[in-house]
Amino acid sequence: MTGTRVLVLNSGSSSLKYQLLDMRDSSRLAAGLVERIGEQTCRLKHTPLAAGGDAREADGPIADHDAALKAVAQELARDGLGLDSPDLAAIGHRVVHGGMFFTEPTVIDDAVIAEIERLIPVAPLHNPANLTGIRTARALRPDLPQVAVFDTAFHTTMPESAARYAIDPRIADRHRIRRYGFHGTSHAYVSRATAELLGKAPEDVNVIVLHLGNGASASAVRGGRCVDTSMGLTPLEGLVMGTRSGDMDPAVIFHLARVGGMSMDEIDTLLNKRSGLFGLCGDNDMREIRRRIDEGDEAAALAFDIYVHRLKKYIGAYYAVLGTVDAVAFTAGVGENAAPVREAAVAGLEGLGLAVDPGRNAVRGDRPRIVSPDAARVAVAVVPTDEELEIATQTYALVGKNT
Ligand code: AMP
Repeated sequence: MTGTRVLVLNSGSSSLKYQLLDMRDSSRLAAGLVERIGEQTCRLKHTPLAAGGDAREADGPIADHDAALKAVAQELARDGLGLDSPDLAAIGHRVVHGGMFFTEPTVIDDAVIAEIERLIPVAPLHNPANLTGIRTARALRPDLPQVAVFDTAFHTTMPESAARYAIDPRIADRHRIRRYGFHGTSHAYVSRATAELLGKAPEDVNVIVLHLGNGASASAVRGGRCVDTSMGLTPLEGLVMGTRSGDMDPAVIFHLARVGGMSMDEIDTLLNKRSGLFGLCGDNDMREIRRRIDEGDEAAALAFDIYVHRLKKYIGAYYAVLGTVDAVAFTAGVGENAAPVREAAVAGLEGLGLAVDPGRNAVRGDRPRIVSPDAARVAVAVVPTDEELEIATQTYALVGKNT
């Protein structure tokens, strides 16, 4: 392998996010996003980080992912970072669902594509979009190694007791129903970075990771291996999220269908897109919710309390799963920025050795940091996640091993 650059692609149904990294020092050379692919109002935003220039934005129709990637390649070429460069070592793709089969990052070939396709029934929104990105990139650079990094892979170490639902295993297996978990690249990165922050090896620490973004999930990580996580068959289970309900009595669905007269599609949309913080108070941005609370808004205050109550339940549950806990790590948009969420989530848990120091918790920053008092038995940490760097690192390591 001669190149040292890795292009990370995160292909959504109508979007394409990318970052180009130099793995000699993990620096970012360029980053960008193509939005609303297929629409007249498509927008490409490209930031030439290495050149230090301003972001460039272009509006106009981009018909499909193929055209989007070609437009990205053109932007990169303008900065002297073209995809035809021998410096490019590999392309790393974020793939949401790898089922039970993909436990590690995997070099993509036709068999891998076929398996990702077979998983479409359990990831109908995400895997087709990820596959489009893979096919497009392969067509553009057929000679280049392409690696799939799966959101589910980190969670494949969960024991059966955590991964199985309490339903007939024959029915579960026939339909591939089990708890897969998501945000795995983030949980892997943050649990490792937390160990580093504590000055220990990942094998020597137990960490509860709270990834609180618009989507949100918790995981219990024992000695570097995930032993439980809050998302399940789909990213709907678990914590209260921006627009998703998280945990609920499954009978709510029967009730909405039988008594409420709603169709399955309507219920799906309700629980995934119109619930969570948004469903409770009409806003899914924690900044806006805090602003409304400061103005005395009761709906926003109740939404916040429900959010924090669920979070606290998961901290307690994963404390019990792990037995001993070295650190609770907050990450992603809410976890990294919302000091009141961190404070409320551990309030009253002094008996478990958990507390935040108000002064430390209030300090903002983009570096990993401890926000608990020095004397606390369990460290409460803020650890910014970096999924692109994790995908690039895993991709580069795998390609290096194979050449
Ligand atoms: P993510 O999915 O990780 O990008 O997180 C997005 C969410 O983070 C937003 O919807 C906000 O709720 C939250 N967020 C971002 N910045 C802040 C901030 N400064 N304070 C509170 N919440 C924030």
